[in-house]
Amino acid sequence: MTLVRVALAQEREVDLSITYDAVVVGSGAAGGMAAHVLTSQGMKVLLLEAGKKIPIEQELRSMEWPYEHPRRGEFPPGNHAIRHNEYTIRQPPYAKKTAFKHVYSYVGGWGGSDYVKNILVDEKDHPYTGTRYAWVRARLLGGKTNIWGRLALRLSDYDFKGKTHDGYGEDWPISYSDLEPYYDKVDLSLGISGYKENLPHLPDSLFQRHNKLTASELMLRKGLARMGRTVTPYRAGVTTDGVKNKYRSKCFGRGACGRRPGGCDIHAAFDSPTGLIYPAMDTGNLTLRTNSIAHEILVDPNTGKARGVSFVDSQNHRTYEAKAKVVIVGASTLESARLLLLSKSRQHPNGIGNSSNHVGHNFCEHVMGPGATGLVKDLVGRAPTLDDGRPGGFYLPRFRNLQDKQPGFVRGYGFEGGGGFSIFPDGAFDAPGFGGQFKKTVRDHAGAFISMGGFGEVLARYENYMDLDPMVKDRWGIPALRFHYQFSDNEKKMCEDMATTAREMFEEAGVEVIGVDKEMLTEGWSIHELGTARMGTDPKTSVLNQFQQSHDVRNLFVVDGSSHVSASCQNPTWTIMALAWRSCEHLADEFKRGNL
Ligand SMILES: Cc1cc2nc3c(=O)[nH]c(=O)nc-3n(C[C@H](O)[C@H](O)[C@H](O)COP(=O)(O)OP(=O)(O)OC[C@H]3O[C@@H](n4cnc5c(N)ncnc54)[C@H](O)[C@@H]3O)c2cc1C
Ligand code: SF4
Repeated sequence: MTLVRVALAQEREVDLSITYDAVVVGSGAAGGMAAHVLTSQGMKVLLLEAGKKIPIEQELRSMEWPYEHPRRGEFPPGNHAIRHNEYTIRQPPYAKKTAFKHVYSYVGGWGGSDYVKNILVDEKDHPYTGTRYAWVRARLLGGKTNIWGRLALRLSDYDFKGKTHDGYGEDWPISYSDLEPYYDKVDLSLGISGYKENLPHLPDSLFQRHNKLTASELMLRKGLARMGRTVTPYRAGVTTDGVKNKYRSKCFGRGACGRRPGGCDIHAAFDSPTGLIYPAMDTGNLTLRTNSIAHEILVDPNTGKARGVSFVDSQNHRTYEAKAKVVIVGASTLESARLLLLSKSRQHPNGIGNSSNHVGHNFCEHVMGPGATGLVKDLVGRAPTLDDGRPGGFYLPRFRNLQDKQPGFVRGYGFEGGGGFSIFPDGAFDAPGFGGQFKKTVRDHAGAFISMGGFGEVLARYENYMDLDPMVKDRWGIPALRFHYQFSDNEKKMCEDMATTAREMFEEAGVEVIGVDKEMLTEGWSIHELGTARMGTDPKTSVLNQFQQSHDVRNLFVVDGSSHVSASCQNPTWTIMALAWRSCEHLADEFKRGNL
């Protein structure tokens, strides 16, 4: 075991009088990868990040026990986490007219989480409007990667060529074979733990040591094998064997990343600062400016090309310009669309890169909610084992609409789940009795529960879109995003099927079903936003080409999930990084040839 505490990379002084080779907006998975690849190719890069750089280890306090915290990890008084019913019965902006001092998204759980109060945005400063939407944003160096759930999955040609398979939507302008070498590079440089299953619809990664399944999970795996379905250890974007990176450590198996929502203070779980940005700084080619909110991509009036980025300093509220030969946007799917739409000029009156009118459209994500909870009776009363000392439970990959054709819906869904002993005993709230008997019941049953919840593909549809609100602005005077988005019948039918199959699978595996969730969670719950500047071969119906390069402006690239053509049902972050790597290699080649 090595616990790494090294001096952070030397920060270069920001010089806004020079023209950088490239300016990158956003420092999460996408922007971090862009900065990493471009600096490794010798380009001089300025990285603009809207949020602060915070002492993340002190924030996450991964080794703190619940009883060591004055409120067992909950928010201080005056702070509020938006609850599920608030999202469903109220219209955004959800923090409007509230008496609370600070309001945050749901993701810290009810009662909120003290560990993320400086990581999540305060909804009071960052309003959005329109249809209901649970928007989770992390504004700090590294963005959402500081607290992501770590499930790291590849997409397959069932996703990239979805239209060819079932006739719906558009195919991606690339195939799995185009991206496979870049998935491999991401695996090798960042580390991923998992178990090979040889599934055509969920390609294996170059795995490091996998986590063990617990007794109930193994039972489910065996049971579902009889149905031709797979339960595999969580494919975690976590290094279990170590990677060549002085800022990161191997996984100690403490399970702290599973705490609502987690983070890993030794950086065994991938996060963009230690995985990508600090190594990029060590090349001497990266300059970082935090507290820098990009609000316009500047255009050369003679050529129509991008010439830099205008940004507001979040602390002094003053506006500055960063000059660059290439502009790379990686501010996350919704923020990137917002920035493109904000960047109106004579040459680009609908927003930069938006001659197709597709920026902000074709939004897609994952639908969540349905799932099941079960009890394995044979495990009741067993002696406790350390089950949650690992970075995740299990994954049950898609099985619908592969060889079969479902009558009610196209595409598919997978389940994430877990079973066994955990820091807070499952079932404690529902256990009957009181006193000694109650405690015994809780202890006896604690390791016998197993549960799982579905993640289904939301279809990309032009009519699901975001634009700029004409009235509402954020704290810095920048127009807010307005949502026009709702689930369709396909998602509703898919969710009905999820609830049915969750029950069926538990029953087949001999797990007693004690609860089935049928309700769909609010739009946005998955935190897997995609599609607002999609790639394609036709500039009339897409925003970017296969290298995430704007069809309209050849020195503008958008390297985050906004480029995805469809959502797949697999989590997106590993694909975001593989795509960004591929595009930035291409970008650096083109830059050297003078083609940008
Ligand atoms: C609790 C949680 C669990 C998750 N679990 C998983 C999972 O298991 N698997 C998975 O694949 N994904 C998961 N995700 C999603 C994953 O975190 C995202 O897919 C990933 O972080 C996207 O990377 P990104 O760079 O596009 O966006 P982000 O990581 O959000 O980074 C964007 C950055 O851009 C900055 N920015 C925004 N606007 C501007 C601006 N105008 N100017 C300058 N900077 C700006 C932001 O401050 C931020 O730092 C989870 C997310 C959360 C929050
Ligand atoms: S289980 Fe591993 S990845 Fe998760 S917090 Fe512990 S060391 Fe980090």
